[in-house]
Amino acid sequence: MTDTALASYKYKRTVLAIWLAAILLIALTWGHVFALLSESKTREIASAEGELSNLTRVSQEHAHRTFRSADQVIRFVQSRYLEIGSRLDLKSLTEKGVIDTEIFNQVGIINAQGINVLSNLPFKAGLDLSDREHFKVHVPDEKAGLFVSKPVLGRASGKWSIQLSRRITLANGDFGGVVVVSIDPGYFTRFYNALNLGPQGLAALYGMDGIARARKVGIKEDAGANASAAPMFERIRNGEEYGSYTQSSVVDGIERMMFFRKIPQYQLFVVAAKESQVVLAEYRRGRDALTLQAALMSALIVALSAGLMRYFWQIQRAVMVRQLAQQQLLDHTEQLKVIFSLSPDGFVSFDSERRVKYVSPAFSQMTAQGVVQLEGLDESDFSAWLGQRCNAETPFVGVAAMRLKALSGKAAVSELVGICAGGKRVLQVGLRTSSSSSVSQILYFRDVTHESEIDHMKSEFLATAAHELRTPMASIFGFSELLLTQDLDAEAQQESAKIIYNQSKLMAKILDELLDLARIESRRGKDFRYTQVNIQTLVADISQSFRAPVGRAAPDFSLQPDNPLLVMADSGKLRQVVVNILSNAYKYSPAGGAVVIRIELKTLAGQEPQACIHITDEGIGMTSEQLSRVCERFYRADASGRISGTGLGMSIVKEIVELHRGQLSLVSTPGQGTTVSVCLPC
Ligand code: ATP
Ligand code: MG
Repeated sequence: MTDTALASYKYKRTVLAIWLAAILLIALTWGHVFALLSESKTREIASAEGELSNLTRVSQEHAHRTFRSADQVIRFVQSRYLEIGSRLDLKSLTEKGVIDTEIFNQVGIINAQGINVLSNLPFKAGLDLSDREHFKVHVPDEKAGLFVSKPVLGRASGKWSIQLSRRITLANGDFGGVVVVSIDPGYFTRFYNALNLGPQGLAALYGMDGIARARKVGIKEDAGANASAAPMFERIRNGEEYGSYTQSSVVDGIERMMFFRKIPQYQLFVVAAKESQVVLAEYRRGRDALTLQAALMSALIVALSAGLMRYFWQIQRAVMVRQLAQQQLLDHTEQLKVIFSLSPDGFVSFDSERRVKYVSPAFSQMTAQGVVQLEGLDESDFSAWLGQRCNAETPFVGVAAMRLKALSGKAAVSELVGICAGGKRVLQVGLRTSSSSSVSQILYFRDVTHESEIDHMKSEFLATAAHELRTPMASIFGFSELLLTQDLDAEAQQESAKIIYNQSKLMAKILDELLDLARIESRRGKDFRYTQVNIQTLVADISQSFRAPVGRAAPDFSLQPDNPLLVMADSGKLRQVVVNILSNAYKYSPAGGAVVIRIELKTLAGQEPQACIHITDEGIGMTSEQLSRVCERFYRADASGRISGTGLGMSIVKEIVELHRGQLSLVSTPGQGTTVSVCLPC
C-alpha cells in the first residue's frame, strides 16, 4: 500500500469511528430522554390517580353523609307520622331546624293512594304523585329500602330534585304511603365546584342505572345524563369498589382520566375525572423542554462530528500534500544525486556561511578524499585540506583568493592544480558565486590530466623531433660547408659527399616516418583499404622479397598451419608491420643468429580465434624497462650509436596493429634475443 492510500484508509476509518460514536451518543441521549419522559409520565399519571382517588373519597364521604342525614330525617318523619298521623307539622319542624333547607328542597308525605298529603313547604293539596317512581317502588313491599330517584322536576317544589323515599308500613303491615325528601342536585355540584379538577374536569354522582344524579362537566351541570355505556358500570357490576381508566368522551371528544368509587350501602357511586391534557400538562412541558434539549444536543454532536471530520480531513490533506512534496523533493534529490554521481566533473557547494555543504562523488574520487568528512568545514579549512593534496609546482590558491578574483570582475575564474594524492592528476578548478540563500558558492573541478599529458607529449615530441632532425642536419651543413670552402682531395670529397648523402637519407627517412605516423594518427585508419588477406601468402611473399643484410641468412619461415589464415586487413600496412619488425630482428642481432617467423592460429576459450605472427631473433634483447618504452616515439633502447635508426618504427607498428583491432606483444631477454608477436582477429 502506498503512503497516500494508507493515509486515505486511516482517514476513512477515523471518519467511520467519529460517526459511529456520534450515532451512539445521539442514541444514548434520546434513550435517556425517553426513559426520563416515560418515568415522568408514569409519575404524573400515578400522582393524578392518587389525587383523583382522594377527591372521590371526599366526594363519596360527602354523598354518604348527605344520604345518611336525609335518611335520618326520613326515618324521624316516618316514625312521627306513624305516631300522630296528619297532625304532623313539617313546617314547624323546618322552622325548628330539624329539616335543613340548605340540603333538602322539600320533605313530604304521599299517602297510600299516591296523593301528596304533607309537606314542609306550601303546596297544592291533592297532587297525585302515584305515577312517580319513588312512590311506585315502595307499593309492593319494603325491599326498596331508601330509594334514590333520578333527578326529576318536583311537582310540589317546582325544582329539579333527587327524590329520596322510604315506605311507611302500618302496624298491620299494610302500605301506608311514602316519606319523600327532595335534595337539590346543586347541593352536590356546588361541592364539586370546590374540587380542583381543571377547566374540563368532571365530577358526578351516578346511580347503578347509569343515570347521573348530579354531574358537573367543566362549568356545565347536567343532572340526568345517561352514561350507562361507560366502562365503570361494567366494572362496578363485576364487584370493583373503585378504579380508574382513561377514555375519550363520545360527547365532547375530550380525553379524561376517570376515577370511580362506590358509596357503601347505596346503589350509587361517585366519579372524578381530569382532562388528560391537564394531568399530563407538567409532563408535556417537561417533555417539550427535554426534547428540545436532546435535539440541541444531537445537533451539537452532529456539528462536532462534522467539525472533527473536517479537521481530520484537513490534517489528511495536509499530510498528503506534505507526502507529495516530500516525494517530489526525494525525486528531485535523487535526480540531482544521479546527475552528480554520473557527472565526470566534481562539485563542492558551500552554504550561506561558506561552510562545505555538499561534496560530489566525482570530486571525492578525483582528490582521493578517503574517509575524511569535508561537510561542515569552513572555506579556509577546506582550502588547507585541498592544498595539502597538491604538488608544490601547481598549488591551490584557496577558495577566498578565487572569490576575490571572481568579485574583481574576471569573467571565468579557473585555476589548474596538480593533485598528487591517489595518483597524479591535473584538475581545473573554477568558482561560481551564487545569490541563492542556501548556496553561497560552488567550486567545480574538471579532470584535465589527459589533455595536459597530450599537451606535454606534443611539446616533448616537437622538441625530440627537432633534436632528431638537427643531428643529421648538422652533419649535412658541416660537410657541405667543408666541400664548398675547403680544397679537399678527391677521396675526402668522396667521403664528405657520402656522409651528406647518408645523413640526407636518414633525414628523409625520419621525415617519411613522421609523415606516415601523422597520417595514420590523423586519419585513424579511415584510409586503410581492408581486404581479405591470407597471412601465410603475405608472410611468404615478404620473406622472399626481404633483403637480409649481407652475410645473414634469410628468415627461417615455415607455412604451418596448413589451413589458410584469413584476416581482414590493409595488406600494404600489414606488410609494413612485418617488415619493420623483421628489420629490427636483423638490426638488433649484429652478432648474427637465426631470425625465425612462425605463424599460429590462436584459439582461446570465449575469444574469437586470432592469427598470430611471431618473429624471433637471437640478438641483444632488452631489459623490461626498455621493453615497456619500445613504442614511444624516438625512443631507442640501444644507446651504443652503432646501429642507426629513428626510433619511430615500432610506434608505427603499434598504431597499425591497434587500428586493425589486433595486439602487439614483446618478450625479450637481454643478450639472448627478442620475440615480437602480432595477433589479428581471423
Ligand atoms: P627505425 O625502425 O625507425 O629505423 P629503430 O629501429 O631504432 O628505428 P624502432 O624500430 O622503433 O626504432 O625500435 C625502437 C628501439 O627498440 C630500437 O632503437 C631498439 O633499441 C629497440 N629494439 C627494437 N627491436 C628490437 C629487437 N628485436 N631487439 C633488441 N632491441 C630492439
Ligand atoms: Mg626499427
